[in-house]
Amino acid sequence: MRFMPLLLLSILAGSSQASVTPTEPGESLLFPGATRIRYELPPSALDATGRVKAKGVQNALCKKATLDRVEFFGVEGIANDTNYCEVDPKEIPADVTAAITKMGELNSRVASALGTNKEKLFPMTMNVFFTAYETGALGGSQVTGVGVTLAVLPTWKFAQFSTMQYAHEIVHVLSFNPGPFATLLTGLVDHPFLAEALPDLVAAVVHDSPKIVIEDPDLPECIRVFRDGTPSQSLDQPFAHFYPMGSVDEILACCEKTKDLSNSARRICRGYAGNRAKGLAKIANKKVLEDLTFRDYFPENLAAPFEAENCRVDSPSGLTFLDNCDTHQFAPTLVSFFFRLKELTGKSQFLSFMNQVAAGALKTESYDCGYASASRALGGARATVKMRPLLGAFINLRESLSSDDQARFDLAWKEHGMAKFVDLDRLYRTESFAGYAQTLVGLRNELFTPMFGCDNLYNFDRVRCEVTCRKVDGLSLDSPQK
Ligand SMILES: [Zn+2]
Repeated sequence: MRFMPLLLLSILAGSSQASVTPTEPGESLLFPGATRIRYELPPSALDATGRVKAKGVQNALCKKATLDRVEFFGVEGIANDTNYCEVDPKEIPADVTAAITKMGELNSRVASALGTNKEKLFPMTMNVFFTAYETGALGGSQVTGVGVTLAVLPTWKFAQFSTMQYAHEIVHVLSFNPGPFATLLTGLVDHPFLAEALPDLVAAVVHDSPKIVIEDPDLPECIRVFRDGTPSQSLDQPFAHFYPMGSVDEILACCEKTKDLSNSARRICRGYAGNRAKGLAKIANKKVLEDLTFRDYFPENLAAPFEAENCRVDSPSGLTFLDNCDTHQFAPTLVSFFFRLKELTGKSQFLSFMNQVAAGALKTESYDCGYASASRALGGARATVKMRPLLGAFINLRESLSSDDQARFDLAWKEHGMAKFVDLDRLYRTESFAGYAQTLVGLRNELFTPMFGCDNLYNFDRVRCEVTCRKVDGLSLDSPQK
């Protein structure tokens, strides 16, 4: 498999709850806004046996852009079920040609921001699906097992191509598929401070702007600027910003303060108000049903400054997850920190930071994990689990600076309340490992996991579903998975 299957990360927290989006079977495991795992594949990308269709011959346009498949669903004036990478360029609609060219340009810009070129950075198959939703970009773009789905309006034209959204999603593709970027992120791909924040940071660096913007017309500015790393986005903000409904609350606040909403914006605002109510009810329900322990959304809790511990969800299975925060909401802090650092030191520190992240990848501890009660015939597939702290990359970045710049780094660190990041990093390292190992082992055992209810990570039979791990010699980092 060239794709890391089943993983979904949405650029728009909570927005895949929109009424136009079908409910996904895997989603009920986790809170809205949290990283979700689901099993959904756009049908036209699959052949009769359910496998991803074999590639045809790429046209020159897509070859140049490093794209293998570009399809549209439900966009007016653009044919469905057509892979435009296999169509004669002369017969491709102008808006599609412009989008393919732009995506190629963005692939190059992302590669150059990461100090490489797109041929090296994109060894994987790149499939992009433009899918029309009444809610446009707010319908929730995502990465699934077959590629990037970009949510667009049915009236989409190239002028509305959201380049930041695309840049964000391709960072997910790079993270989930074997290649140089995934190697660099070894042990960090699920880190709450990177999972959604790094795609935003790359998009922001590539566009030289700390504001993540979607291009749908008719939206008020405070929704169109979807995440904003200005002026200074500290982790000392109230928990209300980080909790699973944080982004929805921010959209609703925008709806409320905008006087002349267009009809479509009004519809979207109503949709979000409904989603908020549904989302809160669902979480409250889950808390009781699954007997979960986490920080409640009482007004006094939401108003108090954020603490990493606020993200914890403790469950009867004995596993702890950090689902009580929406990882998208850490993105403005990471973006703001690096833009401030650039302002203070007069130089972008992004690539230098990524090089420190890469250096740490080689030292990541590796564990071989599997179901303890598996038999040879059933449940015996094992997973290699790698996890490491992120703090070291920041420390090494600081140490690479001159003493004057170290003082500037410390100023930015303080302004952004990054002591809370240190706590979050520690929680990730100490508390999330077991849940992460359980998730990976679960995914590798497609029969055993649902058969014994081990897919309910909050609440499963602790004997039957027990996962045990043993440390693997660090030298075997690059050996193939067993
Ligand atoms: Zn995302």
